[in-house]
Amino acid sequence: MNYLHDKFGRPITYLRLAVTDRCNLRCFYCMPAQGIDYVPQRQLLTYEEMLRIVRVLASVGVHKVRITGGEPFLRRDLMEFLRQLVAIDGIESVRITTNGVRTEPFLPELKSLGIKAINLSLDTLDRQRFAQITRRDELPAVLHCLERMLELGFEVKINCVVMAAHNADDLIPLAELTRELPVGVRFIEEMPFNGDGRQTTLEWDYRRILQTLQAHFPTMQKIPDPPHSTSLNYQVPSYKGTVGVIPAYSRTFCGSCNRLRITPLGKLRTCLYDEGIFNLRDVMRAGATDAQLLDTIAEAVSMRAANGFEAERRRSLHSSTESMAKIGG
Ligand code: SAM
Ligand code: SF4
Repeated sequence: MNYLHDKFGRPITYLRLAVTDRCNLRCFYCMPAQGIDYVPQRQLLTYEEMLRIVRVLASVGVHKVRITGGEPFLRRDLMEFLRQLVAIDGIESVRITTNGVRTEPFLPELKSLGIKAINLSLDTLDRQRFAQITRRDELPAVLHCLERMLELGFEVKINCVVMAAHNADDLIPLAELTRELPVGVRFIEEMPFNGDGRQTTLEWDYRRILQTLQAHFPTMQKIPDPPHSTSLNYQVPSYKGTVGVIPAYSRTFCGSCNRLRITPLGKLRTCLYDEGIFNLRDVMRAGATDAQLLDTIAEAVSMRAANGFEAERRRSLHSSTESMAKIGG
């Protein structure tokens, strides 16, 4: 197969596809309290357009797709889309990132589609703090969803964004979940994509998170990280699950990054920190053939920055007012 590579030799094998910018939570680190301006439905990529992009990417070696958003389960007919997505030749793994509020009824069908892994965003186990962080009182629904995902045998990762003023006290209780549950709890550095341009101070970088975990769990051991992993992973001996830290703001993992992102509007991003170069929706709606679509993608990949710092420097506006819901996380 003729794999897509950037000029630094990094192969592109993984697509993160944001299927909507809508969300039913208002997480402090992702959106302002009043929400973000949603784009009109017709400006979103259609499912047909998304499937076409995935087919083209699969023909050049992309074999893993993560569905994200906004909240993916808010987009109508998601399950029918997933049914077609998992059937694409070359796509070996489809995973989903969700806030878990409306996800539970779909779990059996996800299972039957062969979707094995789900990432659940969960920043605290305390109901009041959950309501403060997400601005919605939905912790019971999310915990119920987690229980059901484990009952059904999904591989579950919990994503927790660590924020000084909000949930630093939740690190240990969340990590303690791994004593009895076979989950990966990953602590993510907060990035400045909160929808209102607020700068993040990164009081809790991955080193501090790790030191806090190590102080509490002195026997915690490093375990091997999967290839292209963004997380550094650890385990407390005899615990069923694992813990990880994701240096999303420190950007230590760019050297092995194999990802592309497609935003709900169809912008192709070769790095989380770039502004998106080409809009694949516009390219397709202007009548491009699959070969032309692939050429556009290959051109964007050839311009890919060496790392997230370079991508950020190249932005026309240095500080971002983007919301992660419009990028896909
Ligand atoms: N709504 C779904 C959810 O929350 O899981 C999927 C979309 S959300 C944008 C994807 C991931 O991005 C979530 O795990 C979320 O915690 C993370 N995220 C959002 N804003 C972030 C930020 N400013 N810094 C770090 N991670 C962020
Ligand atoms: Fe919604 Fe996910 Fe953003 Fe929270 S992180 S506001 S759940 S898109």
